[in-house]
Amino acid sequence: MKITGRIVRPGAVIPGHVEIDGPTIIDVVADNAAGDDIVVPGFVDLHCHGGGGHTFTTGDLAQARGAAGFHLRHGTTTMLASLVSSPFELMRDATAAYLPLVREGVLAGLHYEGPYLSGARCGAQNPEFLRDPSMAELTELIELGEGSVRMVTIAPELPGATKAIALLREHGVLAAIGHTDATYEQAKAGIAAGGTVGTHLFNGMRPPHHREPGPVVGLLDSVAVCELIADNIHLHPGMLAFAARAAGPDRAALITDAMDAAGMPDGDYELGGQQVVVADRVARLARNGSIAGSTLTMDLALRNAVEAGIPLQDAVAMASTTPARVLGLDDVGALEAGLRADLVVLDAGLRVKGVLRAGVWV
Ligand SMILES: [Zn+2]
Repeated sequence: MKITGRIVRPGAVIPGHVEIDGPTIIDVVADNAAGDDIVVPGFVDLHCHGGGGHTFTTGDLAQARGAAGFHLRHGTTTMLASLVSSPFELMRDATAAYLPLVREGVLAGLHYEGPYLSGARCGAQNPEFLRDPSMAELTELIELGEGSVRMVTIAPELPGATKAIALLREHGVLAAIGHTDATYEQAKAGIAAGGTVGTHLFNGMRPPHHREPGPVVGLLDSVAVCELIADNIHLHPGMLAFAARAAGPDRAALITDAMDAAGMPDGDYELGGQQVVVADRVARLARNGSIAGSTLTMDLALRNAVEAGIPLQDAVAMASTTPARVLGLDDVGALEAGLRADLVVLDAGLRVKGVLRAGVWV
């Protein structure tokens, strides 16, 4: 099979075609008969709670399959299922329930967003379930997950947080710093302990101040990959572009942080046991108006990033290549010979025309 168009590769956009044999890209060839379509690698979403009316947050297998299917149709060919802060029993049940989906390749793994988060910066996380990091809980979940636990968001200023981050690192689990009231120094201590991701930079963290740079500057100016919610609601497009430039495309990752309301009509929804009202695509907690998860999909995140002034090849790196690399996946995230044939064909306006996963049209 041959897919023609403007092929977006690391650092360049070239007219040409991608040659695919079975599930694999066998060649990327420059030629002149390319047309207007834009061909990008399948998106990799590190942070997603649901979509299309389905949620990852309850541990229900059919719901999880539905959410992954919804985002696949929007070009996300690799994703983590993100839970929100929950009782330990739910975390354990969800880990066991999603293991078959990870084995099948529907999910790349699990992300626990909490519950070891700051009460002061909990955003739409349910404060009832927040607690200090527990080595015993983490150890049990990592064992139960048999490699499927891929990322845990922790506030580094909590008692025991740096030990928990070191434990995660030891087991090859990404420690993400987020929902945090950390000072700059506390954020740096979390990074020094092994934190390599910043959970939705700016959102759910102490805002930067020139005399207290806090976690935002601590993360931007580090080795960590910074997640950015490119929905123009959680982040002003100017801040998105600024952060992307400051981190560089190799350390910035577009995420959706989507909830089940993504792709659904406005109305009442639920997130981690709290009521959420979606109006004009903006999801807010009913009790305090705090912005909850987004209604974003990765294709729209890419469009928003390009509209914010980020060059297309950089935005694609942020949507695919960088998140694949941070997950340690070497078979996806770019259009290169030998990689899995995960492709999104976009029209000239960056709208999805087709999605190919492992060489099969979705
Ligand atoms: Zn989230």
